[in-house]
Amino acid sequence: MGEASREIMRQARRQVPEWSTVKVHESLAHQHEAGPEHQDIVLVDVREKHEWSEGHIPGALHVPRGYLELQIEAVPDKTKTVVLYCAGGIRSLMAGTTLQQMGYKEVISMAGGFGAWKGKGLPFVQPRTLSEAQAKRYSRHLLVPEVGEEGQLKLLDARVLLIGAGGLGSPAGYYLAAAGVGTIGIIDADVVDESNLQRQILHNTKRIGQYKAESARETIEALNPDVKVITHIERLDETNVARIIADYDVIVDGTDNFPTRYLLNDAALMANKPVVHGSVFRFEGQLTVFKPYEGPCYRCLYPEPPPIALAPSCAEAGVLGVLPGIIGLLQATETVKLVLGIGDPLVGRLMTYDALAGEFNELRLFRDPKCPACGENGHPEDLPTYADVCAIPA
Ligand SMILES: [Zn+2]
Repeated sequence: MGEASREIMRQARRQVPEWSTVKVHESLAHQHEAGPEHQDIVLVDVREKHEWSEGHIPGALHVPRGYLELQIEAVPDKTKTVVLYCAGGIRSLMAGTTLQQMGYKEVISMAGGFGAWKGKGLPFVQPRTLSEAQAKRYSRHLLVPEVGEEGQLKLLDARVLLIGAGGLGSPAGYYLAAAGVGTIGIIDADVVDESNLQRQILHNTKRIGQYKAESARETIEALNPDVKVITHIERLDETNVARIIADYDVIVDGTDNFPTRYLLNDAALMANKPVVHGSVFRFEGQLTVFKPYEGPCYRCLYPEPPPIALAPSCAEAGVLGVLPGIIGLLQATETVKLVLGIGDPLVGRLMTYDALAGEFNELRLFRDPKCPACGENGHPEDLPTYADVCAIPA
């Protein structure tokens, strides 16, 4: 430190009173006991973000010194006692002179800073944050205030189940993985067939004959090592549905058969899990969100399955290869919204897309008070399930 800076420090010390770490700790403890109406001390950490992330004093506000003039508005009352701390007690002294110039009456610097606080064995907290690699990978999320670091941590903590790694599950799963959904479960008992590759982008030519769940896992893991993929190589049925969905927060339904839809609907109601439902046929797709007891369920709309002959899944239905990409991505979008708790999910709304017309439309869907599953006298636990008589793979 040069002579000039030493002089500035001496000046700051004369101007800004210092408290020891023990005195700060006691004053905060005293204030805590006095209750919320006696909050006369405000503790402010003026260190940089990476220092704060490594640990800070509980209850402190974080206002890095470089942003002091801009962000100290968080303490609008200039008569409060503002206790500043940094790593070693020097930056907080300098910050103290700034606050005095701004009109704060009682400004204190904590002598010895956070280093001395830790050295005395006083309590501190370590906030959970993204790693450096994650901050880079998800930087475009961090730039969106409605997502931010907190939202990204929610995504990383989220557990999403894909029913099927086919036409809808592929784009949904791929983008959910890219977005950093931390756990993706995939239930699919089928193997990759050449005819899948026109739309099922999680798979590729080399993987023909492999289990789709395994192929999907390989693709997702290559994209994003943050994602844990759990594969369930089985068909969803009465014996496993409750056990499998129990571990997940949101279910993305990419099935194309009625038995599974009813089975999933009733189990999801019982477990209170939202189902993001999508379907495609030729040039048309549709999706909605079944959120238990907040909007209609699948049985509110279709109390019973259609006659077998009319069910589109009873024939190998054609579909424009790009269409499931659109609907699957809308399902992924709804899933991310549910995880983050932002926006208006498609609850009670059916969105339809007509690729040839280039049109989206929306239909309102209503809960049926007499619904056998979610109505007043509904009993989802003992409704009939329907055998997969068609046995056409999803
Ligand atoms: Zn219902």
